[in-house]
Amino acid sequence: MGWAIDASPGTFPSGVSRAGSSLNYNDGSTCAGANGGGALSPVINLAGLAVPALTFWCNYDTETRGAGYDKRTLEIWNEGLTATFAVWTLASVGYSFDKTGGLVGIGPGPCSEAYTDLETGTPVPGWHLHKVYLDPAWSKVRARFVFWTVDDLRNGYAGWAIDDIAVDEAGAAAPTGWPDTFPDTAANELFGVDGREIDNCTRAAGNLLKWSWGCNNQGDAGVHMIIGDHPQSILGPSFMFFDAVHNHWHMSQYSDFSLWKDTAGVGFVKLRRGPKRSFCLTDIEAIGAGPSISPGCNDIWQAISYNWQDVYALGTSGQEIDVAGLATGTDYLLVGVIDPINRLRETSNLNQADQLHFTLPAAAGAVTKLDNLNPYPPTTTALSVSTASVAMFNGQLCVKLVGAGFDTTLVPVMFDIGTAVVEAPMFTIVSATEVQVVIPAGITTVASVDLLRPLGDAASIRLVGPPTATVPAPGPPPGSPLNDAPPGGGGKKRRCGATGLELLIPVMLIAALRRRSR
Ligand SMILES: [Zn+2]
Ligand SMILES: [Zn+2]
Repeated sequence: MGWAIDASPGTFPSGVSRAGSSLNYNDGSTCAGANGGGALSPVINLAGLAVPALTFWCNYDTETRGAGYDKRTLEIWNEGLTATFAVWTLASVGYSFDKTGGLVGIGPGPCSEAYTDLETGTPVPGWHLHKVYLDPAWSKVRARFVFWTVDDLRNGYAGWAIDDIAVDEAGAAAPTGWPDTFPDTAANELFGVDGREIDNCTRAAGNLLKWSWGCNNQGDAGVHMIIGDHPQSILGPSFMFFDAVHNHWHMSQYSDFSLWKDTAGVGFVKLRRGPKRSFCLTDIEAIGAGPSISPGCNDIWQAISYNWQDVYALGTSGQEIDVAGLATGTDYLLVGVIDPINRLRETSNLNQADQLHFTLPAAAGAVTKLDNLNPYPPTTTALSVSTASVAMFNGQLCVKLVGAGFDTTLVPVMFDIGTAVVEAPMFTIVSATEVQVVIPAGITTVASVDLLRPLGDAASIRLVGPPTATVPAPGPPPGSPLNDAPPGGGGKKRRCGATGLELLIPVMLIAALRRRSR
């Protein structure tokens, strides 16, 4: 068990490497047991680099998408291994990020997963790019990747794989501020209600409910929302895909739309979900002063410039929900959420949603607006889950979760007793402390559930266990004067057998380092 440079196992979603071998943590097939270990780079000399950046590709197959179990950490050590300059958590949600923290606060950003676009069926690979700005004043550094299962439960996954590590010029200065995307709502509209709010909602001919959506960028002054292959991007191109249906690039999982019904005796039931979650980000209308830098939708970098709005008008392909079979003349709630799993670093994550409470007409035509109230609007109450159990609820097999922080922006993900991981988007909010999540196809026996939110926090709970063994977090790397210190979380001595061997990453693997050491 430990880090290796090889091409096994082949069970990683999207493969163990981008090509050939990768640096990966497992025993050649899984991470079974209670274990952990580090992979330490050679000394990396930052001399001559104006804005040094560490980039690496990442893919993982573990128990959680948050930071609860099977923890993945990136550490930057000094040359003598006497201290760390920075330590970051890697996760899909709940990753390290502090917008006031300068270079260290920027961190490596979020992880992503293999994903199939709901509208077009386009597969998006699990391999994704991370970029970390290094401080030239650090002079010489060693990067260390640390994997830690925490305990012996639910470790039958392929683990963590890293590929194409490089340290080179970033190409542009590190960000000094953040954008902020938020929907155009009747309340925040700068020019009055202009029909770009979700309130502009209609039943089209047939059974499709359609609506308008506008997405502003007004975060720190002058800071553009840039994604993709661009030196100032805050999210790598691996989070985008070429949509052959729209014939341009999309950011995957950019928005989420759903239809709800407050149902007496049951709860606030999520009835339907829109297929369109992936969008092109571009500038459509200025909402303040400032230039547009957007290249449109045909490039693998995209932007919503500061003080601009992207508009997804009423006719936008795929921006719809099929209402066939739903009772008419009664009220529903339509909820739209930007960046539902918090891929984008922003000045605020509390303004991502908007909603419309309306009466559904029997024939084609505009819906009757009732209000913009949401019984369970986004909350800042910390997300937590205390208990989970499986039972029939409202005619469907569900996982009942008891906890706090539940609102209409939740994104549940379910893990089965094997290695299947499936998004479980349909759920009922029974009360502020209870949700019932419908078990999706592909899950045979529920082993654990993750709850994610655009707010950026996450909660995990297991339905199996408890663990029979736990293991302290891997300690400092061998060769460090700190190496005799107790491992994190207590214990006497570093237990090398239990924590796995440290792997020294060959210089060969670090492409830019090889160039620079000539
Ligand atoms: Zn990652
Ligand atoms: Zn498109």
